[in-house]
Amino acid sequence: MAHAGELAGGNFRARLAVTGGSEFGQLSRHINDTAANLQRTVEQLQLEHSELERLERIRKDFVINVSHELRTPLASIQGYTETLLDGALADPQYNMRFLGIIRHNAERLARLTEDLLTLSRVEQKRQKLEFEPHSIGGLIEESMDLVRPIAAKSSIRLETELDAATPEVWCDGEAVSQILSNLLDNAIKYTPAGGSIVAGAYPAGRFVEVFVRDSGAGIPAEDLPRLFERFYRVDKARSRELGGTGLGLSIVKHLVGAHNGTVRVESRVQEGSTFFFTLPAEEAALPKETAVAVSAICTNNATIGEVRAS
Ligand code: ADP
Repeated sequence: MAHAGELAGGNFRARLAVTGGSEFGQLSRHINDTAANLQRTVEQLQLEHSELERLERIRKDFVINVSHELRTPLASIQGYTETLLDGALADPQYNMRFLGIIRHNAERLARLTEDLLTLSRVEQKRQKLEFEPHSIGGLIEESMDLVRPIAAKSSIRLETELDAATPEVWCDGEAVSQILSNLLDNAIKYTPAGGSIVAGAYPAGRFVEVFVRDSGAGIPAEDLPRLFERFYRVDKARSRELGGTGLGLSIVKHLVGAHNGTVRVESRVQEGSTFFFTLPAEEAALPKETAVAVSAICTNNATIGEVRAS
């Protein structure tokens, strides 16, 4: 009977000895079944609890990160405004330079808030995506055209490499343009003058795989698993200097996830990086309504989960 005491005390792993088919034996079996059910429920609740704790930690980290990111440019704007008001405004040697710094930081704040709003819209599924058949070659060309002037300035060659068998993709045209422009912007930012960038696509089963390959700086292997996390940067100072917010790749990950696709990256330091993402080649491969909601929750918080990095 000691086990009965344990059950009553909350140890649902304890079991009563079952003695034959007597009424007492049947009662013991029922109690044991109930204990097993309770044990499963307790384990489930424990799992949910630790998941909630994990989500709360992620939320807190995010708030801390955002505050840090906003604080630096704000402090700079405040500092230089004070200096100008304290007399530097009349000093032709400094006034234009300080105003330039203020403008630079204001632009950084604008980019940051813009990216934060985009990310929260995508994460919370408030951005209604309209899935339609599109030519991926056309979308790649359009995005390439947008960055051509910036690439030309850095003497970076742009090329496309489209497999002739690539079918149309089912996607939201604007979302895919945003994905491509984030990847192309990065490729340009992290590729030195004289380098080259190739974007293209090829069929991959029920999906089409799209890639953006650069001959740039590359990414150390140890950074690859965390690359798609919000605010993760290999070189913080360099990213800031280049006008980065650290949110571009997490926006990419979420937009690709909303299409039921996956993202991955291959990279070698000094040789370059290739970012890949998949898009459905048929309507049936798009997320179902419920699947969208579920994947929204999962991708929100996943880090390496759906990101294969090599
Ligand atoms: P950022 O605004 O800093 O570019 P992203 O989320 O777009 O933020 O990228 C995160 C980090 O990944 C960058 O800071 C950079 O360190 C690295 N990265 C992204 N794309 C490339 C690339 N094509 N080549 C080298 N490093 C890259």
